[in-house]
Order: sequence, then C-alpha cells, then structure tokens
Amino acid sequence: MEQRKIVLLGPPGSGKSTVAEGVASKFSLEDLYMGQLFREQVEKNTIIGNIVKEYMQKGELVPEDFVFGLAYLLLSSKDNFLIDGFPRTLKQAEFIDSKGVKFNAVLFLDVPEEEVVRRLSNRRVCPNCKAQYHLIFLPSKEGENCDKCGTHLERRADDDPETIKNRFREYHSKTAPLIEFFTQNGLLHKIDASLAPKEVLAETIVALDKVFCVEKEE
Ligand code: AMP
Repeated sequence: MEQRKIVLLGPPGSGKSTVAEGVASKFSLEDLYMGQLFREQVEKNTIIGNIVKEYMQKGELVPEDFVFGLAYLLLSSKDNFLIDGFPRTLKQAEFIDSKGVKFNAVLFLDVPEEEVVRRLSNRRVCPNCKAQYHLIFLPSKEGENCDKCGTHLERRADDDPETIKNRFREYHSKTAPLIEFFTQNGLLHKIDASLAPKEVLAETIVALDKVFCVEKEE
C-alpha cells in the first residue's frame, strides 16, 4: 500500500497548524500534533503530564525519554499522516528512523523571527474545543469568544514573551540542525512562510503534489 508520511518543520509561530489542517484534508492525511498530545497529558493530570508540564511552561523541549515512547506509539502503525512537532531534535529523527518509520517529505516553513514573534503574541486558543484563532489573520467572529462554542478565548500558556524567547532558543539550538539533516537526505522542501496563510498553503500543496507525482512515476 502507498505510504504518505509527511513532517512539518518550522520555528514556533511559522503557521504549522494552519498548513497542517489544509494539507491533511487536501491529501487525506491524518493530522498529528505532538505538542497537543503533551498538552492533553497535562490537562488530564497524568503522571507524564505532571512531569512535562514544567518544561512546556518554560518553553523548553520535554526530555527525550518521554518523546520517544509517545512518538513510536503514535507513528509506528500509521501509513498516511502529517506530523507537526516531531522530530524536533536529531536524536528523535535518528530514533524514529531506526524504528523503520521512513518519511516521504519534510516541509520546512521558513519565516523571519520578527514576524513569528508578532504572530505568536496575537495567537488565541479556545480552552474548551481547542479551536485556534489569530487576532489579525484569523479572528473569531464572536470577538473574544470562540465562534464554535462561545467559550472565552485565551492566550496559550507558552505564548507569553519570556516563554516565546525560550522556545526560540530551543528551536535554534536543537531543532534547526534538522534542516541540514533532512536536506542531506533529500527530503526537505522549503516553503516561504512569510506569505499570507492562503499563499503558504497553496505553495505547500504544490510542493507535495510534486513529491507524490514523482513517487508515482518511479
Ligand atoms: P508546540 O505546540 O508544538 O509548540 O509544542 C508545545 C510544547 O510541547 C513544546 O514547547 C515542548 O515543550 C513540547 N513538545 C512538543 N513536541 C515535542 C518534541 N518533539 N520534543 C520535545 N518536546 C516537545
């Protein structure tokens, strides 16, 4: 059976979740979000949740041991997915590769840091149904309330300015080396994510169309 295993890579605030939603529905891929899985563990007060919470609040990556198990459980039995938020370190990329999970393509959303800081500080999420909004790009029709369920919107706990800074530090030191890694193995597709969300999505779809088209011809 044909496999479609796609990774979304990019700094915090590069628009990964918006792209993920559009691309997943266009190509019938399961939309997987590592950060959301950890947030669910925190909300459910699980043992893992209580440990990873402090790292997430500081904007740091959670220790590899917690990521490996969860990523393996999540990805090993699936053939069609788009994953946002994994791998985020070279060790994670090597681990999942050693488990036989081979990605078809890595979409790298490239955007300058000043732009993503502006985006993150205007981001809002519904604490009830998890719908995501943006005060500038994707405002709720209900103002400060969710237009799906009416709940008052909140800023994500890790979107405050100090935490944003830490998330960037983590991104540059631990995640950015993956750009070189996936370039070397020929999987990286760079997308200009400083464009408007609709254009970024369109560019991403063109890139993936090419990947799948080339694979069909081979
Ligand atoms: P995100 O919503 O993708 O920004 O993820 C939120 C937080 O979850 C991150 O700041 C990390 O603390 C944690 N996290 C998500 N994915 C990973 C990962 N692959 N490795 C380590 N920590 C992660």
